[in-house]
Amino acid sequence: MEAPPDSRAPILVIGAGIAGITCALNAADYGAAVLLVDDTPSIGGLMARLDKTFPTNDCSICIEAPRMYEVGNHPNIEILANTTVKKANRKNGRFAVRLVTRPRYVDPEKCTGCGACIDACPVRVPDELDGKIGGTRKLIYMPFPQAVPNVVLIDPRCRSGAMRAQGACVGGCVVDCSQCRECPIALCVKACQKEGKDAIRLWQAATSRNIEVSAIVVATGVMDVRPSRGLHGYDLYPNVITYTQFERLMNAGGPTAGRIVRPSDGRPAHKIAWLQCAGRGLAGGIPYCSKVCCMVATKQTLITKEHDAAVETVVFLNDLKACGKGFWAFHEKARAAGVRHVKARPYDVVEDPATRNLVLRYEDLETGELATEEAELVVLSTGLKASDRNEGLARTLGLELDEHGFFREPDPLAAPLETAVAGIYLCGGATGPIDIAEAVVQGSAAALKAVLCGSRKEHACPTRPA
Ligand SMILES: Cc1cc2nc3c(=O)[nH]c(=O)nc-3n(C[C@H](O)[C@H](O)[C@H](O)COP(=O)(O)OP(=O)(O)OC[C@H]3O[C@@H](n4cnc5c(N)ncnc54)[C@H](O)[C@@H]3O)c2cc1C
Repeated sequence: MEAPPDSRAPILVIGAGIAGITCALNAADYGAAVLLVDDTPSIGGLMARLDKTFPTNDCSICIEAPRMYEVGNHPNIEILANTTVKKANRKNGRFAVRLVTRPRYVDPEKCTGCGACIDACPVRVPDELDGKIGGTRKLIYMPFPQAVPNVVLIDPRCRSGAMRAQGACVGGCVVDCSQCRECPIALCVKACQKEGKDAIRLWQAATSRNIEVSAIVVATGVMDVRPSRGLHGYDLYPNVITYTQFERLMNAGGPTAGRIVRPSDGRPAHKIAWLQCAGRGLAGGIPYCSKVCCMVATKQTLITKEHDAAVETVVFLNDLKACGKGFWAFHEKARAAGVRHVKARPYDVVEDPATRNLVLRYEDLETGELATEEAELVVLSTGLKASDRNEGLARTLGLELDEHGFFREPDPLAAPLETAVAGIYLCGGATGPIDIAEAVVQGSAAALKAVLCGSRKEHACPTRPA
């Protein structure tokens, strides 16, 4: 029989969106030591990039940032950003885990996030999230203003020389960056030294760490689905964007400082159409309902109206999902604000080259007639899919995924959030498409399961049949 888990071994939480953050805070408040790992440079997940949140329309980052800072300052929590779980083996009722942290090329102990290095960097590149709607960042950058840890990082392409043609100062030297401990070239290095900090470490390499943990919580979340090229004109016409891009467009912290403008000409859009279930059931799309898109569109139309009540907003949908607390009232609020809903099956979107407006052709599901409607901006609600890193992580942890790439709960009714491996739990979008409130509930529940498991309550770590 395996020895009982050691109560002093920390709990490992993989994924630091709102579910993982909630789980880490709860477990730490119960007295457990927690390692919170995310493979991106900051904790926060998707919620950190949203504008407001349905169904209350509260500011998303205003709710999440205090929790992110609490995690960053909690004596029982250690954050490992930019970090991947490479191995996890069961050993005497615990898990021997190998974590690998990618270099930021910056010493986190010395960087104060002052931004002098960013000002000095001569090269702007499209931002990963906001590139399509004009968002840019420098080659040395802060992931977003409220990032935790609040430490800059350097784009590896700068160091490898791949950005020389674009004007990068680093990368033209005959000596590889990994060999030098001083750099007379890099403008960010000079700017940082001028601030008296000397935090840039161009020679930094990946580091690995082996640790034993008592329980693991997988909180790897969701990703928005990128439409395939040509879907309703996406990637063909600049004024067809996704709902995540629209969310960034209306966000005061986004690339347009909250101005809802068209990517083609930067002019305000006076008529906007949302196409729900975009790509659903088609190649490259998802076959299931993502649960959140109807309320996301409701939120986005309402906020658009708050920005400018004269903007015409039309939602083309085949069915309305408004089955959470306060969701129907939220939908009614949008209707009262003048948002129009059309039950439709859209079949194509064509651009008018003169105006760059989009002409939608669709079947009106109430009349059965074919109809057209013109809009200045089209937003595709494409749904939520599983993290594209789930497959690798499932292999590492010995877990099963369902047919859509989410982690499988062998008994979702009687033992939700449990997996087939005793001591490994799930929460948030790792289980399937989810909204924030549900992700928070699951984060709290998974924390309790992990803490009980780590505290030698053997009955709390049952192995369930796969
Ligand atoms: C456009 C849009 C608008 C939305 N608006 C709302 C709204 O108004 N209200 C609402 O309730 N919901 C909304 N949602 C849904 C909301 O974003 C999710 O419910 C929420 O983000 C789920 O939180 P999570 O922590 O489970 O996942 P995520 O936020 O996705 O966080 C998961 C984290 O895990 C990390 N990760 C993934 N894989 C790994 C790995 N293998 N190793 C390490 N780290 C990993 C990721 O980097 C990420 O930081 C919206 C979604 C979209 C796309």
